Amino acid sequence: MTAISLGMPDVPTKLADRRVSRQIQVGTVAVGGNAPVSVQSMTTTRTSDIGATLQQIAELTASGCQIVRVACPTQDDADALATIARKSQIPVIADIHFQPKYVFAAIDAGCAAVRVNPGNIKQFDDKVKEIAKAASETRTPIRIGVNAGSLDARLLKKYGKATPEALVESALWEASLFEEHGFGDIKISVKHNDPVVMVNAYRQLAAQSDYPLHLGVTEAGPAFQGTIKSAVAFGALLSEGIGDTIRVSLSAPPAEEVKVGLQILEALNLKQRRLEIVSCPSCGRAQVDVYKLADQVSAGLDGLEVPLRVAVMGCVVNGPGEAREADLGVASGNGKGQIFVKGEVIKTVPESKIVETLIEEAMKIAEQMEKDGIASGEPQVSIAG
Ligand code: SF4
Repeated sequence: MTAISLGMPDVPTKLADRRVSRQIQVGTVAVGGNAPVSVQSMTTTRTSDIGATLQQIAELTASGCQIVRVACPTQDDADALATIARKSQIPVIADIHFQPKYVFAAIDAGCAAVRVNPGNIKQFDDKVKEIAKAASETRTPIRIGVNAGSLDARLLKKYGKATPEALVESALWEASLFEEHGFGDIKISVKHNDPVVMVNAYRQLAAQSDYPLHLGVTEAGPAFQGTIKSAVAFGALLSEGIGDTIRVSLSAPPAEEVKVGLQILEALNLKQRRLEIVSCPSCGRAQVDVYKLADQVSAGLDGLEVPLRVAVMGCVVNGPGEAREADLGVASGNGKGQIFVKGEVIKTVPESKIVETLIEEAMKIAEQMEKDGIASGEPQVSIAG
C-alpha cells in the first residue's frame, strides 16, 4: 500500500496584516490586538427561561461559537443572568437596550461583557459615569453597539439618515463619554443592513480609533441572503485587516450563524480550515452525479475536526489535477473512481464504492493527523506595523 506522507499544513497565506487595535478580555476570550478573530452569536430563547437558554448555548458551543450574547429586556431576564453566566461554557454578553438598570444587573451578575446601544438607552449619557465605575471595578468590557435602525435622534437630524459618518460619530461620541471617566475597555460595532454603508462605516471607524471592532451586518435577512451579505461585507473588511470579532445575523437558528462565521474566517485563512470539500460544479462532461457524491461525502465526514481537503471531481478533465492537490480525492469516469491520497492513485473502485472508500480513507488520514497533532487551530496572526 502507498505510504501516506503527512506534514504540518502549510502556513496559510493571508490578504493583509491585521489592523492594530487595543485588546480587551471578554471572559476567557481576548478580542483585538493579536487575538484570533472570534465568532459570536446570540440566543433566541427567552433569557428568563434558564434551561432553554443554557441548552441553546450548549448547542452553540458545540458548533464552534466562542462568545454568546443574550437579550435582557425584562427584570426576569436580568434575574437569570447570574446562573447563565456561571453555567455557560463560553463567555456571556448581556445585550441591553432601553434600561440602564439592567446594565448594572448584568455587571453584578458576572457577565463577561455588556452590550449597550446608546441610541436606545434613555438618559444613557447621565449614567455613563456610574456604568464606567461599575464596569471598571469588575473589569467588565462594554460594547458600544450602534445600529442604523436606532441611531441617536440628534445625529439622525444632523445627517438626515444613518450614513457611515453618522454611525461613526455616534459610536466615537459614546466611547468618548466613557473615556472621560478613564474607562477604555470598549469594543464597537456600527451595524447597517446595507453592506456598502456598513463597510464604509467600519473603514472610517478603523481609521479613526484603535478600538477592537465587532463586525455585523444587521438584519441581514434569511439564511441565503444573509450569508451572502455577511460574507461580502466581512470579506471586504477582514481582507483589509479590519475586524476582531464577528457575528453573522441570520433569520435562522443561531448555530447556522456560527457555521457561516467560521466558514468566512476559514475562507480567508483567518482560521485553520477544517474539512474542506473541493467539488466541481459538474458540466456536460460529468460521468457521475457530482452533487450527490459531494453531498454524500460531506455528510459522511461531517464533524471531522482535522484540516482535511477532499476533492470530488466529476470527470478526468480537471479531476486528477484537483484530486492530486488535495489530501484525498476522487476523479470519476467510465463508471469508476480513481482514489488519490496525497497525490498518488492508491486504487480504482467501482462508482458504487466511491463514497465508502473516500470515507474510509479520510478516517485513516484523520486518525494519523490527530496522532501527529495536526488539528484545527488558529493560524498565527501578524499585526500591521
Ligand atoms: S471536473 Fe469534469 S465534470 Fe467537473 S466541471 Fe470540470 S470538466 Fe465538468
